[in-house]
Amino acid sequence: MKTANSIDALRKARAKLRGSVGFVPTMGALHEGHVSLMRRAVKENKHAAVSIFVNPSQFGPSEDLAKYPRTLKQDFALCKKAGVDLVFTPTSEMMYPSGFDSWVEVVELSKPLCGEFRPGHFKGVATIVCKLFNLVQPTRAYFGRKDAQQLAVLTRMVADLNMPLEIVPCETVRESDGLAMSSRNRYLSPAERERALCISRALREVERLYAKGERDAGHLTSVLEAALGAEMDEVQYADIRKLSDLSEFSDKINAPALAAVAGYVGSTRLIDNVVLGQSGKAARK
Ligand code: AMP
Repeated sequence: MKTANSIDALRKARAKLRGSVGFVPTMGALHEGHVSLMRRAVKENKHAAVSIFVNPSQFGPSEDLAKYPRTLKQDFALCKKAGVDLVFTPTSEMMYPSGFDSWVEVVELSKPLCGEFRPGHFKGVATIVCKLFNLVQPTRAYFGRKDAQQLAVLTRMVADLNMPLEIVPCETVRESDGLAMSSRNRYLSPAERERALCISRALREVERLYAKGERDAGHLTSVLEAALGAEMDEVQYADIRKLSDLSEFSDKINAPALAAVAGYVGSTRLIDNVVLGQSGKAARK
């Protein structure tokens, strides 16, 4: 496995890769969710590349940029074990040199859900992923459905800006008790972790009702809200949206839908979602 810690080194290493390249952009603190993306990139391409970069432009001023977990040594070991060929670990100064002034914005898809609570977040995400795509020049890029809005924003960006690559959505990987894996789960105390289970439980209940024929978006939203309200310290949103463009249903669910949740347990912000009405893995244990 090659590691590149500068743009120059990355370009040189990339130039040596012949054939298809599968790419997994990450912020490190890697877990089995990331590993599932890496394994798929390895399996479906001649080569696999991973980036590890905690992107400052996607964090708000009061968010956890400074304390975001950094576990580079373990991350390298996981990449190597998964069969990754190339790991790119740039610094902020390399990605945002002084005078940096070019941004990518996916306008409408960035507005609802997380966009409402994290202004500028998806502009930061779209910009860094665009830059990473320009550097790595992947054939395919792998993203988790856990970050459903990010996946929607980046799929739109690639289509709108004619980027020559395929975005591959990957199912959410969960702990055995249902909690969606996240680098931020390590912030949770044992008691908070227990309370955080209300999220996957609430989403499973919505799946169960949907499977029984419930199509009233308002009712399913209130089921989500009731299940979360008792355990979470703050529910930012609990919403059922059209999967295609994240717009709201006026009444009945009549197209594939995203049931999505975000909020705080203690001081940790957690997100999770399930897709309704389209094949895909459920929030099951
Ligand atoms: P992050 O390091 O949090 O920026 O995540 C990097 C990539 O891993 C993104 O495409 C995430 O959606 C994906 N990812 C994070 N957690 C999971 C999970 N539990 N299951 C599947 N993919 C995940």
